[in-house]
Amino acid sequence: MERLQKVLAQAGVASRRKSETLIVDGKVKVNGIVVTELGTKVSNSDRVEVEGVELVKESFVYYLLYKPRGVISTVHDEKGRKTVLDLIPQVSQRIFPVGRLDYDTSGVIILTNDGDFSYLMTHPKYGIKKKYIAKVKGMPEREALRKLESGVVLEDGMTAPAKVKMRTVDKKAGTSLIEITIHEGKNRQVRRMFEAIGSPVQKLRRESFAMLTTHGLNAGEARELTTHEVKQLR
Ligand code: URA
Repeated sequence: MERLQKVLAQAGVASRRKSETLIVDGKVKVNGIVVTELGTKVSNSDRVEVEGVELVKESFVYYLLYKPRGVISTVHDEKGRKTVLDLIPQVSQRIFPVGRLDYDTSGVIILTNDGDFSYLMTHPKYGIKKKYIAKVKGMPEREALRKLESGVVLEDGMTAPAKVKMRTVDKKAGTSLIEITIHEGKNRQVRRMFEAIGSPVQKLRRESFAMLTTHGLNAGEARELTTHEVKQLR
């Protein structure tokens, strides 16, 4: 059973706030009867109508894509570049990416039509961890990595504490592979964090999002999340 305004919002009728107004204004019927009570709960078998139009119930779908570099993580691109949606099998639901990865970042990205799930996965207050592997220029000192851990000042504010681990150093190439785990999602956050310590990122991959990894997938391949995975995350 779900609250009526949530059901309306999830079906894409309107925002949750506007859905509440529709209910209070007597525009919503459940099984043929006008309902104005905001706390009303409905189940899947209830017939819901808004201004005389029956709600079409969309089932939720969840995909995990191993995003390759050179693909944009939006639904459309004005410049006609390949989008993450082009790499998912055609589905009737209107799916969108949960958060973003830069054009040049590869790794785990989730696509769904479940707005609440997307919110849960991306809002910093839920602390969902995202682990990135960054190939950076130079060999940052331990002190610089500590700075990343405790928080660096970016133009849009200080970053929250992160977990940072040096993986390998390629002395010949003058680069390092560093693992960094964050739970925020500021625009180009990882790249900007490394810039802030003077070690620009040359290559970036998101290794995991919560417990989800690209294990078993090649770049450009996608799979549906299992019911168990969705339950674990929701
Ligand atoms: N941080 C970045 O800088 N880029 C991404 O794509 C993801 C996190």
